Amino acid sequence: MKTLRKLPIKAETIDAQSGKVVKTEMVTAGILPPAATACPICGRNPAHPADQPHDAQSLYYQYSFFGEHGRWPTWKDAIAHCPEGVKQHWEAELRRLGAWTEPPPRRETGGTAR
Ligand SMILES: [Zn+2]
Repeated sequence: MKTLRKLPIKAETIDAQSGKVVKTEMVTAGILPPAATACPICGRNPAHPADQPHDAQSLYYQYSFFGEHGRWPTWKDAIAHCPEGVKQHWEAELRRLGAWTEPPPRRETGGTAR
C-alpha cells in the first residue's frame, strides 16, 4: 500500500467578497508517491534514464522539491544530477528556447553565518 508523503504548503484564506487574503499559514498536505515505473524524484512515468534531467514541469517534482527546499525547482535543479555533457546540452537548448530557469541569487542578510 502506498503511503502519503507529507509536504508543507502555504495555505491562503481569501475573503470571497473582497478577494483579499485574510490569513496565510503553513499546513501539511499529503501527496501520493509516484508509480513503481516512474522516476522516484520527479514522478515522470515511465522513468527517464538516470543520466537525463528530471521533469521540471511535473507537479509532483515541484511540490516535493518545494517541501524539501522551501522554493520552487528550476531547470538548473532538474539537471543538477546529470553528467557535465548532458547538462551543457540541456542548458544550451533551454536557453535557445528562452526556457532556462535557475534559482535566484542568495540574498545577503548582513548578519553572521550560523
Ligand atoms: Zn526524474
